[in-house]
Amino acid sequence: MAEYRLRPIPPYGAPYFPFNDWLSFPFQSKAKDQRHQVPLTFESPYDNTNGKWFRGNLHGHTTNTDGELSPDGYVQKYAGLGYDWICISDHDFLTVRPSSCPDNLVFIQGNEVTARGPHLLHIGCQDIVTPDPDRGKVVAEVMAREGLCIINHPNWQEDFSHWPQALIESLPPFHGIEVYNAIVRDQEGSPLATNRFDRLLSKGFRVWGYANDDTHWESSYGRAWNWVSAEDCTPESIIENLKKGRCYGSSGVELTRLQTEGKRIRIESENGSLCIASLDWGLEIGRYKGSRWEFDLEELYDEGRRTPTYIRFEVHGEGDQVAWTQPIHVVGQR
Ligand SMILES: [Zn+2]
Ligand SMILES: [Zn+2]
Repeated sequence: MAEYRLRPIPPYGAPYFPFNDWLSFPFQSKAKDQRHQVPLTFESPYDNTNGKWFRGNLHGHTTNTDGELSPDGYVQKYAGLGYDWICISDHDFLTVRPSSCPDNLVFIQGNEVTARGPHLLHIGCQDIVTPDPDRGKVVAEVMAREGLCIINHPNWQEDFSHWPQALIESLPPFHGIEVYNAIVRDQEGSPLATNRFDRLLSKGFRVWGYANDDTHWESSYGRAWNWVSAEDCTPESIIENLKKGRCYGSSGVELTRLQTEGKRIRIESENGSLCIASLDWGLEIGRYKGSRWEFDLEELYDEGRRTPTYIRFEVHGEGDQVAWTQPIHVVGQR
């Protein structure tokens, strides 16, 4: 099997350009020359992310539906964890900002479309949409209202298929899926849905991955969240950047740097110790130990094998703690 040429550049802090000779792989010869005749372009949501990073949860329920916490109790819990923003997304019900919500916790209105079909999030809503059994109609309506539209917990339930894959793929455009939904830890199925993510991405769907608590009980908060790069922590700015994928999901690993510059990506983490890079269809191409990584994305290209259309990274830490980056797309391939 041919070797992919993506590699981490080990000596972080070594001269950035040009490469030291010893950093160049010996097989950088003919193929590389040919490769430059058809330059690849990388589309990263993290290009020039110079904003600040803000943390929040998009998915959770209160006593207005089937949650254990009152809206006041809910925002207090998240305020206590130091979240920057929070969303309540009750089932087919619009819970508005509780009066006790602290000023420094930005509140975003949401709704989980629930009845009569698989669930999805409508974030940034002014009102709920009708939970039509035709989820294609619901998605179109959420998008028409300029909401952030996310497919929820695809691998929930005994058949690990709350959302059958074919149904997701039949939907009109939406923003993304929950790659991790923490409440499914306590339910049948799998909280993780990177398998669905890879299938969608590999078929050309431009979707992003989000991680959420899906808070129901007092004990089920603060287990999964999203960090968003934004200029300001306002509902509008947070939602806008979530829509653009300028974010990553986490169940405990924090990235202190996540930035692309042209064809290079730099990832740093204080509590992550292993970075796994994978391509189309979940093809894992490497596991890199450490806490800081630099990748030359052009090294993805390898003549004789199908050119990847995207790369994504998972940074693993202690136990089951993970950070899931968005895909970086490869375009302009031959
Ligand atoms: Zn749900
Ligand atoms: Zn829910």
